[in-house]
Amino acid sequence: MAKVVIIGAGGVGQVVAHKCAQVPEVFQEITLASRTVSKCEAIAEDVRRRQGRSLKTATVDADQVPQLVSLLEKEKPDLVINVALPYQDLTIMEACLKTGVHYLDTANYEPRDTARFEYSWQWEYRQRFQEAGLMALLGSGFDPGVTNVFTAWIARHALDELQTLDIVDVNGGDHGKAFATNFNPEINIREVTAPCRHWEEGAFRETPAMSSSTRFACPEGVGMYQIYRMYHEELESLALNFPTLKKAQFWMSFSENYLTHLRVLQNVGMTRIDPVKYQGQEIVPLQFLKAVLPEPSSLGEDTRGKTCIGVIAQGIRQGNPHSVYLYNICDHQEAFLEVGSQAISYTTGVPAMIGAKMMLQGHWMKPGVWNMEDFNPDPFMDDLNRYGLPWTLQDPAQVTIPQADPAPE
Ligand code: NDP
Repeated sequence: MAKVVIIGAGGVGQVVAHKCAQVPEVFQEITLASRTVSKCEAIAEDVRRRQGRSLKTATVDADQVPQLVSLLEKEKPDLVINVALPYQDLTIMEACLKTGVHYLDTANYEPRDTARFEYSWQWEYRQRFQEAGLMALLGSGFDPGVTNVFTAWIARHALDELQTLDIVDVNGGDHGKAFATNFNPEINIREVTAPCRHWEEGAFRETPAMSSSTRFACPEGVGMYQIYRMYHEELESLALNFPTLKKAQFWMSFSENYLTHLRVLQNVGMTRIDPVKYQGQEIVPLQFLKAVLPEPSSLGEDTRGKTCIGVIAQGIRQGNPHSVYLYNICDHQEAFLEVGSQAISYTTGVPAMIGAKMMLQGHWMKPGVWNMEDFNPDPFMDDLNRYGLPWTLQDPAQVTIPQADPAPE
């Protein structure tokens, strides 16, 4: 039995708090800390009402290592679950090293002033975590996270040689707003507007953002969606950890309405991440935009529809070409009824809880800084079925494998 501190009380933090509270045999004590303590208190109240458990709450500015250190020294947790923003990854890792606490997150570190998505900064901590006898688990959400575990499971159980990967993330949900993002708007828009990179024949190839797209028919009646090729951080570690991969691509669905709004916001400069002077003050347009958009955690009640996220893998089995598709479908309203959040937060928060459980139960515990595919996928896959994200294997794959065509005008 263990004690955890969850940092971040947004859409994902809410789900992690509920899911940890549902597993008291592992998560005996839970503290929820964030910059705005009233958000922690609201979540704690909801957890008390739905799960009948009490959480402690605390204020912390996770950009400040000394504040984090005093929180961790006071709470003495076994593990920090970081579901604040990617900007805080390194400060929280530093504080964990100073206080002897294990670490987990769901998104790679990003510097505020450049939209660069890579693990280099966090992988630099490998030796320090190893020497301290501590573990850091990176990217324990859905994508990255479950998609890495799906890939490891396919490499272990379904194919003798893994040759191509297509990770397809479809959100078939409708929140009824003119424009909103399903997770932190600032992080979402930085990701979507960045140049696309995919892995091909031993190197990352760069193409303009959203310049390739195709139609994808989801299984089980979820529907047909336009998906766009983009860069996503799990491609970096997967390309490295599965050297037989000839090609690896990531695809995400976007509605025409979302893309039209985004294009206009980009054209008028609202997605800029460099500061501009406004009435004698410096503001970052994208941060201002975030302040006027709906909070992702507020979208749950009205969002209808399903997500369908999975991995299509091609390779060799018993000497012959073979393909499989491993996916999860999650219903926005079912997630809302269970924990008060839409499915994007749910599909991120559940794997964060399971990753923490893997570490605390010792299934996945070794000093150093690791990605999800570095571990045996089997106990994690069992827990996905058990804690709300059941998966399905199509063997052989019965979906059309996405081909990179130019995006429609
Ligand atoms: P939200 O914006 O809803 O929540 C972020 C929370 O972090 C807020 O409570 C915010 O506090 C808090 N926070 C921000 N800065 C600080 C700080 N300096 N100190 C303490 N707390 C801080 O985001 P989401 O919940 O949607 O996303 C959380 C994380 O999950 C992000 O890193 C995101 O990239 C990741 N994610 C990962 C996915 C995956 O599949 N791997 C998918 C979706 C998200 P305040 O309320 O005061 O602003």
